[in-house]
Amino acid sequence: MKPILFNFTETELNEFVAKLGQPKFRAKQIKDWLNRGAPNFQSMKNLPEQLRQDLDACAQTLPVRIVKKLESSDGQTTKFLLELNDTEQIECVLMRTSYGNSVCVSSQAGCAMGCKFCASTLLGLKRNLTVNEIYSQILVAQWELRNDKLSNKPIRPNGDANNDDVSHIVIMGTGEPLQNVENVIGFVERANSDMGIGWRKITLSTCGIVPGIKKLTEWGRPINLAISLHAPINELRSQIMPINNKYKLEEVLNAAFEFSDLHNRQLMIEYILLGKKNSSGEVELFNCTSELAEKLSELLKNKNCMVNLIPWNAVDERDFASPSGNAVHKFQDILIKNGIHTRIRRERGQDIGSACGQLRLNNAKGE
Ligand code: SF4
Repeated sequence: MKPILFNFTETELNEFVAKLGQPKFRAKQIKDWLNRGAPNFQSMKNLPEQLRQDLDACAQTLPVRIVKKLESSDGQTTKFLLELNDTEQIECVLMRTSYGNSVCVSSQAGCAMGCKFCASTLLGLKRNLTVNEIYSQILVAQWELRNDKLSNKPIRPNGDANNDDVSHIVIMGTGEPLQNVENVIGFVERANSDMGIGWRKITLSTCGIVPGIKKLTEWGRPINLAISLHAPINELRSQIMPINNKYKLEEVLNAAFEFSDLHNRQLMIEYILLGKKNSSGEVELFNCTSELAEKLSELLKNKNCMVNLIPWNAVDERDFASPSGNAVHKFQDILIKNGIHTRIRRERGQDIGSACGQLRLNNAKGE
């Protein structure tokens, strides 16, 4: 297996370059390219051609390699299927928006949480990602933005043309970040220090691992926290999210509000709207009836939070259906009437299978 130069310390990289008979400044040049996300040595244009060839033959740049890249029809969303050195695969998504360039990263290869609506967990958990493997996902996106610029691609809608860098991070891809909390914290610290991404531009989403939320509170950085809630009563939540058998709704929300109140931040509540087909093929509402909208309102009354409603993004292997647009708006209207800040999340890149884990799953099935 070829060594991954991105994983090298400064001393190790200096030694590596010296062994190739190269002067020390080459190590600095290589490091600069690696920090910009260069996917191969051929793109390191200030290195001599022979050295680029030698490096390509004996080393690897980043700990991730692009296997597949899909772009949405509007050009604003790019989804990457990435392979790690042990051939495990993960996904990350670059979203070019009017407020900046946001990257959704994975924190684990697969997921053990078993949420019933999710594709990421269908193949189980393979392993935690290292800090470098998580960080490299941002570098992949950063390199893509560089290519946008070089090709003069008009990218962000109403955006600031001078801001071509990754500006926001959401830790919402494959995996449960708080099951890999040490490495996720290491990654966030590094994104802040090395890439200058502000704490408030970083959002971590969890299905509700209470000790992990408490760990974030102790850590003390004012990032945004999102809770995948998806049901306002324990009985229903346990049916679709097995983690609820361990950490009940109230316990999760108490820990989460403690974190967000400490930083005077709005807690994000993620709520996927699910329907189920009955025997005559009609879609019945599952977790988004009027009664459940009232229950959710009671649960969140007078709390500093924002509910993101997410109409379900179909996954073939899952036994759910998308509720109608009317049902989605009715659910939202009840929450708003009850004074709960609510928005319907615009799904990005639906034409490229943006449901979490779908690309990885399809690739494993050979599609
Ligand atoms: S929704 Fe998140 S926590 Fe649940 S199975 Fe999918 S990746 Fe894991």
